[in-house]
Amino acid sequence: MNNTNEMMVEFSGIAQNESFARMVVAAFITRTNPTLEEVSDIKTAVSEAVTNSIIHGYEEKVGKIRITAKIEKRTVFIEVKDDGKGISDIKKAMEPMYTSKPEDDRSGMGFSFMEAFMDKLTVESEAEKGTVVRMWKEIGVSKHQYE
Ligand code: ATP
Ligand code: MG
Repeated sequence: MNNTNEMMVEFSGIAQNESFARMVVAAFITRTNPTLEEVSDIKTAVSEAVTNSIIHGYEEKVGKIRITAKIEKRTVFIEVKDDGKGISDIKKAMEPMYTSKPEDDRSGMGFSFMEAFMDKLTVESEAEKGTVVRMWKEIGVSKHQYE
C-alpha cells in the first residue's frame, strides 16, 4: 500500500467524457478505501476541472485532456491538463463567483468547489499553451468521516 501507484489517461474534451473522467479516477482510488464522501468530493473536483478544460480551455474546439493520478501512502494526487487557451489572470479566475462566461449561466464556483473538496489546489497556466490543475487529498482524515 505504501508504494506509489500512478495512472494516466488522455481523452477527447467532449461533454460525454466528463462522466468517464469521474469514473476512471474513482475506480483508480478505490484501493485507498475511501469513504463515499471522499469519493464524491474527488469526483466533483475532477468534474469541475475537466468541464473547465472543455468549456473554457477549448471552447468550440475539441482538444485533448490528460489526467494523471497518483496514490502515495494515503494521499491522492490528481492533475488535469489541457492545451487550450490558458488563463490570463489566475488569481482573478480563482475568486469565488468570478466567471468569464456569465452569459452561459456559469456561476464561477468551479475553483471554489475544487478548493473546498480537496486539501490543496494549484493552477498553472500560460496563454495559448494551456492549463494544469493539480489537486491533493489525503484519504482517511475527513472531518465528516462516519464514526
Ligand atoms: P462554474 O464552474 O461555476 O460553472 P466557471 O467555470 O466560470 O463557472 P470556475 O470553474 O471557477 O468558474 O472558473 C473560473 C474562470 O476561470 C472561468 O470562467 C474561466 O475564465 C477560467 N478558466 C477555468 N479553467 C480554465 C481552463 N482550463 N482554461 C481556460 N480558462 C479557464
Ligand atoms: Mg468551472
